[in-house]
Amino acid sequence: MNIHEYQAKELLRSYGVAVPAGNVAFSDSQAQAVAEQIGGQRWVVKAQIHAGGRGKAGGVKVADSIEEVGRITDEMIGMNLVTHQTGPQGRVVKRILVEEASDIQNELYLSFVIDRATQRVTIVASREGGTEIEEVASHSPEKIITETIDPALGLADFQCRKVAAALGMNDKTRMTQLVRIMKRLYRCFRDKDALQVEINPLAQVAGDKLICLDAKFNFDDNALYRHPDINELRDLEEEDPKEVEASGHDLNYIALDGDIGCIVNGAGLAMATMDAITLHDGKPANFLDVGGGASPEKVTNACRIVMEDPNVKALLINIFAGINRCDWIATGLIQAYTTLNIDLPMVVRLAGTNVEEGRKILEESKLPFLQADNLDDAAAKAVATVKGEQT
Ligand code: GDP
Ligand code: MN
Repeated sequence: MNIHEYQAKELLRSYGVAVPAGNVAFSDSQAQAVAEQIGGQRWVVKAQIHAGGRGKAGGVKVADSIEEVGRITDEMIGMNLVTHQTGPQGRVVKRILVEEASDIQNELYLSFVIDRATQRVTIVASREGGTEIEEVASHSPEKIITETIDPALGLADFQCRKVAAALGMNDKTRMTQLVRIMKRLYRCFRDKDALQVEINPLAQVAGDKLICLDAKFNFDDNALYRHPDINELRDLEEEDPKEVEASGHDLNYIALDGDIGCIVNGAGLAMATMDAITLHDGKPANFLDVGGGASPEKVTNACRIVMEDPNVKALLINIFAGINRCDWIATGLIQAYTTLNIDLPMVVRLAGTNVEEGRKILEESKLPFLQADNLDDAAAKAVATVKGEQT
């Protein structure tokens, strides 16, 4: 799960990490009030969306007067911001962060991330801050510094000093600050079960002060149950509405970009279904995992959510029932068909518990379900109906 930049900065502030004075605003008058409260002569107005690359896309602007803060905010709120991380459809800006502007002397990159290869929290740092780290990694990988943290020993002082020295922060003032920032970031990372914290840029400003000008957090969804304070920061408007609705019904929904809507049980079957569709030259529009013991109501909800995607031209229901019961799935499909007025082809492959009853229920309904004998047959039929429709 991601949080907004201003929330990330509040979290960092609570750990004693230096961030600029600032606050969130939802309107131009609020933004001006924030600017007045901060004081000073220059402010930065930053679009709060769960995507980076805002600077280049017009989502970070400097204002020289309170009036300008209002003007920029007015322009920014409601705008559709397209950055290299949002995809071409962009994101509508609903809130902004107003903060004191900093005079940047030097921009560094500093992040903590779980490295899958070593299965350890790893520091990734670079002198080339402010730019996309992916660019630095591909053009000049030697400019990326990494340091692996032993989970039993924790982050040692010598490791912090090593990274600080490699970043050119050799003098006592900056070294001391950077070591302290790294230790506090690591403590926060561990405390909150983060997967990543990225500070880009970590800026050197007047008086050789180091300050986090941008902060991004990613938290482990599976650990959120023990962090209600973090879970509360979740902004559902930044997530795919169908995924949010699905999770409300205890269903897992993943949006993709093809035209065959897939209802399956289990992540493994989802992957196999995707492979089968792809083998037949088709493309899945999404995946909805109904999990185990799915009731007819759950199946009906699943059909509704999958069909909300306008790209869906056919449904493929692929259930290998163990804990699930094919008769319940079939009853749910009939309920969906009649209550939702489905006019799309529905290919159904049932296997496992109560399969005979399930198939019989579908047959006796006299509804136009296309039953399939196996996964391959199901994928072939789904792709054929979609292609048939297009020609
Ligand atoms: P991102 O593009 O979404 O990563 O947004 P950032 O918060 O990193 O801002 C992008 C760039 O704007 C930074 O790399 C800085 O160069 C610049 N910037 C951000 N805040 C300030 C500020 O307070 N003063 C100045 N002069 N530049 C800033
Ligand atoms: Mn940034």
